[in-house]
Amino acid sequence: MILDGRGKYYSKGIITIDPDGTILAIQDTHGILKESEEVEFFSGMLVPGFVNAHCHIELSHLQHTFTEGAGFVPFLKQVVDHRVSDPDKVIQAAEKADWLMYKNGIVAVGDIANGTTAFEAKKHSKIVYYTFVEALGFSPERAVKAFEWTQNCINIAESNGLSASIVPHSPYAVSGSLFRAIAAEALRTGSILSLHSQESNSEDDLYHSGTGEMVTHLQDNLGIDTSFFMPTGESAIQSTLEYLPLGNNLLLVHNLNTKQADIDYIACVRDLGNTWFVLCPGSNLYIQNRLPDIALLRKNGLQICLGTDSLASNHQLSILEEMKIVQDAFPEVTIHELTQWASWNGANALKMGEWAGSIEVGKRPGINLLSGVDLVSNKLLPGTKVKRLC
Ligand SMILES: [Zn+2]
Repeated sequence: MILDGRGKYYSKGIITIDPDGTILAIQDTHGILKESEEVEFFSGMLVPGFVNAHCHIELSHLQHTFTEGAGFVPFLKQVVDHRVSDPDKVIQAAEKADWLMYKNGIVAVGDIANGTTAFEAKKHSKIVYYTFVEALGFSPERAVKAFEWTQNCINIAESNGLSASIVPHSPYAVSGSLFRAIAAEALRTGSILSLHSQESNSEDDLYHSGTGEMVTHLQDNLGIDTSFFMPTGESAIQSTLEYLPLGNNLLLVHNLNTKQADIDYIACVRDLGNTWFVLCPGSNLYIQNRLPDIALLRKNGLQICLGTDSLASNHQLSILEEMKIVQDAFPEVTIHELTQWASWNGANALKMGEWAGSIEVGKRPGINLLSGVDLVSNKLLPGTKVKRLC
């Protein structure tokens, strides 16, 4: 079976491909396939190359370093403690992660950068990367310096031939003044925006009441004087979304704590057509042993993408494994939807829909073979494997 990534499927269809991977034709045989010398047969499902909408390839050297299930704020503390690493080690691990993602059928990645070290691995890759350079600075005094630093990273990315934009890390790591500087730049460049959003209760507690674990983290682990901060009485996303320009594509990443009131708010202040909700279920289980309310996101008809997050908080960088986690926890999600989340939605969020994300004539999306699938119920099985065909 061929799943085109946009909800259409062909039973025993035939895809004609140019040697460079461009799709020349798709033939719907209506399930009646005649033997032909030039046709190669594959048993399983053919799906478009995967798009990993959220990764931090620069953290790949931290695989097996952090305790599983420690909780979100302790995880942040561990990341801070391991920020400084040997650049050679970072590059080597990033190159290995890049190769594994390629092997796992990933053709494009929305990749977070908090430094420039991993650019070396990305510039030689067969994968197409869009780099989100994150600005960090919860204290308003940091805004000018933090923004200048990200501009420098963008210059380095561009000199390495990488597409990149400046984005806010999260509501708990960016001040109002830094949000405004990022927004002005995004408005000027029309760039793609990403925001770690509602990854835990603690960022909502911070904005609701100015209390909780996040406040302790900011004060004790990062040494920030938070006395300037005024709680808003609303959730973190409801308190900060208005900073971000309406016309730019926006990827909201994690959405673990997202409630109906948040979705109503987001729908009220921006166009859901250029807003994507990126899920990183493997990472959410690794850090907090819980998953987002995917049923709620589906019920609201939101555009969902899949991401792996980093090897610091996941066992592998595989979109297929993320699909399996979602299917196990939410069996009502069909293989057609999962495939769309894994390819088409991510490609559009990253503005790569012209060539990636769907099996359509004229595109070069990469073709993955999923084998070991239950073809009667159209379900992935624990042993389902992905093989990149082109
Ligand atoms: Zn992340």
